[in-house]
Amino acid sequence: MSAPGGHGELPAGVQREAPLDRLATVRTGGAAELFARVEDDERLCELLAWAAAAGVAVNVVGSGSNLLVADEGVPGLVLKLAGALADIELDRQRVRCGGGARLPAVAAACARAGLSGIEFGVNIPGTVGGAVRMNANAYGGELARALEWVDVATARGLARRAPEELGLRYRSSALRDGEVVARAGFALRERPAEEVKAALEELRRMRHEAQPQGIKTFGSTFKNPDDARAKGRTAGLLLAEAGAGGLAVGGARFAPKHANFIENTGAASTADIVALMAQGRRLVLERFGVELEPEVQTLGPVRFPW
Ligand SMILES: Cc1cc2nc3c(=O)[nH]c(=O)nc-3n(C[C@H](O)[C@H](O)[C@H](O)COP(=O)(O)OP(=O)(O)OC[C@H]3O[C@@H](n4cnc5c(N)ncnc54)[C@H](O)[C@@H]3O)c2cc1C
Repeated sequence: MSAPGGHGELPAGVQREAPLDRLATVRTGGAAELFARVEDDERLCELLAWAAAAGVAVNVVGSGSNLLVADEGVPGLVLKLAGALADIELDRQRVRCGGGARLPAVAAACARAGLSGIEFGVNIPGTVGGAVRMNANAYGGELARALEWVDVATARGLARRAPEELGLRYRSSALRDGEVVARAGFALRERPAEEVKAALEELRRMRHEAQPQGIKTFGSTFKNPDDARAKGRTAGLLLAEAGAGGLAVGGARFAPKHANFIENTGAASTADIVALMAQGRRLVLERFGVELEPEVQTLGPVRFPW
């Protein structure tokens, strides 16, 4: 088997030049040099071992809901988890999820089974793997509070890690590229199904009021700053007060309803988004002296000009 640029055989099921824009919620970016959909542990570990031996970089895409893909494409192998790696299995007060399982589906399955603890996932349009990597959170619900273990696949095989070993911090973890969350287990509490469903409904309603719906976006662009000069304001408030709301570059604009959301209004490129981010960041820096840091993750050679 050969490295990507070569002409030798690739492992079965690995495609060349697979467009990634359709796998990112903001719908921008180029193609993966190599791409594979992976449906079980064995194949996942085989592909990771092949890539390591061939010197091919590996990245994984979940729901692409926090992802900015380079316009020129992504070198190396991009994996997408599916099949058994996206399952949701309930067992009394526990739920085991594939890294590719969608968080809103996990929240809904747990609600139907009368299990509480992962309701916040209803509003996070990502996968379990992406949520662990990003330490996703909403309305005070904390992933780490329910998370019991994570099976991480690398070129050396699968290994189980405890939450304390994941380096979970505000919107980040110590997981590196090439370390794939294959599965995660959560411990939940019993609560009447009707109550959990009502809690989900309330969370959906709150989200509906606070955020624009039905737009092409990757959610929060910048992290909320940990800087006294922000005086407790969120990145969205700082951007709005600095006048970024509605500002546009090409097909990208800061959403009028939520200035920390960038919207692809039609034919935006990743370059448009990066240029817009730079403008918004500069406005906040000039007005408040606060340096915003991107929350959105990048895939491929995306360079922020600051
Ligand atoms: C409308 C909207 C609302 C949002 N609201 C919230 C919110 O309230 N709270 C919040 O925290 N986030 C929110 N987000 C951001 C996003 O949904 C989360 O960060 C989510 O956890 C990303 O998961 P994903 O599967 O989409 O990951 P992707 O965007 O596909 O990837 C993000 C990162 O995770 C890595 N990754 C993905 N899958 C795996 C895996 N299996 N193993 C290892 N690494 C992996 C990727 O390589 C990348 O580095 C929102 C996004 C949108 C579009």
